[in-house]
Amino acid sequence: MDRPVRVAVVGSGPSGMYAADALTAQDDVPVSVDIIDRLPTPFGLVRYGVAPDHLSIRSVRDTLDKILDKPSVRFLGNVEVGVDVSMERLRDFYDAIVLTYGASRDRALGIPGEHLPGSIAATDFVNWYTGHPDMPPDAFVGFLAETRRVAVVGVGNVAVDVTRVLSKAPGEIDHTDMPQHVLEALRDSSVTDVHVIGRRGPAQATWTTKELRELGELEEAQVIVEEGGDVSDEASRRAAEDKAVARNIAVVAEWSQRADDGRGRRVHLHFRCRPVEIVGDDRVEGLVVERTELDAEGQAHGTGDTHRIAVDAVIRSVGYRGTAVPGVPFDERRNVIPNIDGRVMDGEVPVPGLYVAGWIKRGPTGIIGTNKKDAVQTVTCLLADARAPGFLTAASPEPESVDGALAGATVVDAAGWRRIDAAERALGARRGRDRTTISTRDELLGAAQG
Ligand code: NAP
Repeated sequence: MDRPVRVAVVGSGPSGMYAADALTAQDDVPVSVDIIDRLPTPFGLVRYGVAPDHLSIRSVRDTLDKILDKPSVRFLGNVEVGVDVSMERLRDFYDAIVLTYGASRDRALGIPGEHLPGSIAATDFVNWYTGHPDMPPDAFVGFLAETRRVAVVGVGNVAVDVTRVLSKAPGEIDHTDMPQHVLEALRDSSVTDVHVIGRRGPAQATWTTKELRELGELEEAQVIVEEGGDVSDEASRRAAEDKAVARNIAVVAEWSQRADDGRGRRVHLHFRCRPVEIVGDDRVEGLVVERTELDAEGQAHGTGDTHRIAVDAVIRSVGYRGTAVPGVPFDERRNVIPNIDGRVMDGEVPVPGLYVAGWIKRGPTGIIGTNKKDAVQTVTCLLADARAPGFLTAASPEPESVDGALAGATVVDAAGWRRIDAAERALGARRGRDRTTISTRDELLGAAQG
């Protein structure tokens, strides 16, 4: 090939950015990389997932931002594959496509009452408080004003984030980059009690100790271990041989010794409680849970013993789910694109020129850093294929640029993103903050155009 290998990376979250970085960190195979994102802003879950009060994790975006400065990398934001440009058109132009669009949908509980008003997905709430342009600014304003008691179902890190954001005092979040309307709604929130519901025990929770501990350090909220904290069963004892699990157990055990200190906000932990029904006439009035016991493998089984937790809202935080792209193989059971080491597989056969990285490759697990190793694995396969004569070739590699196919879209390039970035910093400075997130697509596009 007498020109650089043309690669499209679809998705600019950590896995996409790390893939672009790995592709351009070598000079054995010349490449040019276009990073395509349906949003006008890059960095995916670093911007719209990582909690705004986790400043050091959010600062990863400064590292990712430098990747956009590389001469062989372009950012094509506000371009939705399947809407602004089809997968077929991309395949016409690019020699290789790396799909890194993540797993953005919520998972359902599949219980009666799940669709009552007041029953919401954590993904929506997280999108709202991080200022995702898909969420209307007022989406949770009324919710927070009217809700006193919330159940958060799930004991992973997203559940911890949601619980913490709901339970923090205004002074604990007003330095963050949350949109102004979010800060104001949280300041006016009526939430006093958050019930965190785990269907298994403290030894099986997927949260990490550092994040868990933060719940015990809130200014205005105390943690109360309500039920199911016992870890004397065989599976929990075995699980506790793992140091990280043992640390989580110790944190919960310490909390269970704490006396009620009379603070006005409370985080209630319920373990071994499986949600079976959300009840209410016109909206959520309670969550019915069934006590569980764990088998030797640590799996939960219902005991038939149910009770009702009085809540006005239920936030389900039971994991994310990936979705299919037309024309690309998809594993409906695992909600990932089938692959071997990042090469997309159609049954037993690799699909030439098609690769995956990140959550849509391996499922919604791991921390940001996990995506670096994952992206490098995928890029290693892609570069090996690029070295094999004739393996990577665009379907019709004639046009000089894909830009003609994007004529109908308002593309935000890296310079446009930098203008958004500057506008957010200026907006923040006015209120003594580092940044205030701009949250509507119109305003983002306006800022991008300067
Ligand atoms: P997760 O860690 O997979 O947790 C999902 C939780 O939902 C588990 O407790 C799971 O319990 C529970 N669950 C699933 N189905 C359920 C059902 N039908 N009924 C009741 N409970 C159910 O997912 P996540 O919290 O969405 O986090 C996704 C990934 O992002 C994780 O890797 C996480 O560590 C990462 N993350 C990291 C941070 C951070 O580092 N600060 C912040 C946010 C997210 P079972 O175990 O019993 O299935």
